Amino acid sequence: YMDEDVSIKGFSEMESISESFNQMISRMKQLEDSRQEFVSNVSHELKTPITSMKVLADSLLQQEGVPAELYQEFLVDIAEEIDRENKIINDLLSLVKLDKKSGEMHISTININELLEQIMKRLRPIAAKRNIELVFESFRPVIAEVDEVKISLALSNLIENAIKYNFDEGWVRVSLNADHKFFYVKVSDSGVGIPEDAQNAIFERFYRVDKARSRETGGTGLGLSITRNAILMHRGAIKVYSKENEGTTFTVRVPLNYIA
Ligand code: ADP
Repeated sequence: YMDEDVSIKGFSEMESISESFNQMISRMKQLEDSRQEFVSNVSHELKTPITSMKVLADSLLQQEGVPAELYQEFLVDIAEEIDRENKIINDLLSLVKLDKKSGEMHISTININELLEQIMKRLRPIAAKRNIELVFESFRPVIAEVDEVKISLALSNLIENAIKYNFDEGWVRVSLNADHKFFYVKVSDSGVGIPEDAQNAIFERFYRVDKARSRETGGTGLGLSITRNAILMHRGAIKVYSKENEGTTFTVRVPLNYIA
C-alpha cells in the first residue's frame, strides 16, 4: 500500500519535472527564434539604405556627362539615405542599452513637469510645421526617481509618434498626473489611429502598421519597443487605446520611487 502511494507520488513529481523541462526547452526555442528574427530584421533594415545608395552612386558613375542638377539631386538622395542609416543605428544602440539584462539604471530625482516641458519645447517647431496643436496639461507637480535619459527617450518617442501619425491641423495633448505611488502620463492625438489587430504588435521591434508611411516619416519601427523597454525597466506599464482615423491614446504609469 505504502509503496504504491509513494511510487504514484514519485511518478507525478517526475511528470511535473519533465513538463517544466519541456516548457523550458520550448521557451528556449522561442527565444532563439526571436533572436534569429531580430538579426534578420536588423540586417534587412540596415541593408535597405545601402542598396539605395549603391544604386544611386552606380547610376551616376555609369553615365558620362551627367548634368550638374541631376548630380546634385542624386547626392541629396544619397545624403538622405545616410541620415536614415544613422537613425537606424542610433535606435538600435538605444535598444541594446535598454535591454533589461544588460541595461544599467542611473536613477536620480527628476522634476517630471520640467522634463515634459523640455521635450515639448523641442518638438513644438516640428508640430508647428504641420499646424498641429501641442498642449500640455499638468494636474500636479511631480518629482520622481527615474533614469532621466531612459524616461525622456520613452516619452519623447510617444509625443513624436503622436505628431508623426497625425493629420495636418490636428492636435496632441499630453497630460501628467500622480497619486501617492505612481505618476501617469497620457499622450492623446487626433491622428490616423492604429487598427485593432495591430495594437499588440506595435511594441515589437521593427513592426510598422504602414511601412511606406513610416519610412516617409523617417520611422524605424524601433521607437515603441524602446519606449516599452524603458518603462518596464522602471517597473511601469504602458497601454494603448486607439480607433482608426480618430486617434490614439498611450497611457504610461511609472512608480514615483524606483524599486531595484
Ligand atoms: P516608427 O519608427 O515606425 O514610428 P514605432 O515603434 O515608434 O516605429 O511605432 C510602430 C508603429 O506603430 C508605427 O509605424 C505606426 O504604424 C504605429 N504608431 C505608433 N504611434 C502611433 C500613433 N500615435 N498613431 C498612429 N499610429 C502609431
